[in-house]
Amino acid sequence: MSNTLSAAHLQNEEAAYAYLEARVWPEGPVCPHCGGVERISKMQGKSTRIGTYKCYQCRKQFTVKVGTVFESSHVPLNVWLQAVALLTSSKKGFSSNQLSRILGVTLKTAWFMSHRIREAMRDDVLPPLGGAGKVVEADETYIGRMANSEPSPQRKGRPYVHPNRPARRRAVVSLVERGGKVRSFHVENADKATVTNIVNENIRRESRIHTDESRLYNDVKGTFAAHETVHHSSGEYARGDVNTNTVEGFFSVFKRGMIGVYQHCAEKNLHRYLSEFDFRYNNRVKLGVNDAMRADIALQGIVGKRLTYRTTARG
Ligand SMILES: [Zn+2]
Repeated sequence: MSNTLSAAHLQNEEAAYAYLEARVWPEGPVCPHCGGVERISKMQGKSTRIGTYKCYQCRKQFTVKVGTVFESSHVPLNVWLQAVALLTSSKKGFSSNQLSRILGVTLKTAWFMSHRIREAMRDDVLPPLGGAGKVVEADETYIGRMANSEPSPQRKGRPYVHPNRPARRRAVVSLVERGGKVRSFHVENADKATVTNIVNENIRRESRIHTDESRLYNDVKGTFAAHETVHHSSGEYARGDVNTNTVEGFFSVFKRGMIGVYQHCAEKNLHRYLSEFDFRYNNRVKLGVNDAMRADIALQGIVGKRLTYRTTARG
């Protein structure tokens, strides 16, 4: 932990500004008010806030935070960057409680920060998975009661389930390209039509699809280069290279995270947690992404998504 947070830009607010500026303005400061790049000076006065610039074209001041989610937050920038570093480097994620303790911010602030970071992790421009000679595994899983979860006094750490209100289980469908990326969906009903749509819209036709023997995938046959199944019910877990071990491995990390860390997640937020787990899987060490690079990718998402929103709101 201490190792993760020892970098200068996580410890010092001025260094945090320099770090963000280098990423948002690789070619030097840009005035967010008029778009000017020529007549900009850094303010140096003792009472000047960190990272303040003045544009002499429009005579307005700004920092690199203008137009990003950081602008409206009172949390020091280096603490934001700590939150990004923690959420992007941990395997199972952090609860708002843990983040609040580590960062020294209120629970409410920790909650807001982590949802903003999850939003930044959401990747909505992924190309279809798979391709010629590639295997995509598809599977579904169910997460225990989500809405109205409460901590149980008897069974510490387990979601509380009211004896007279049966738990509604939330269905998740994930597609994983073997050796590649994952894409997960929270679905209202994991029925054949829903699952078939997800598979058809997100996997290239040239791929081989591997699933278990579930009837949910019956309509997938014929659409792809091959649809091969393992018969879990008869004790078969692999036949040659036909298996669903990759997607099951992904589910196991996701479920351990959800049970251990996020047991109080409301259903409406489930897709955010899926974005978070997909993000870490899709930017994993095996694909050449180290912790620092992963944090930077999430940071681009935070800054970029907010800018898009502002542009839309104005226009
Ligand atoms: Zn300007």
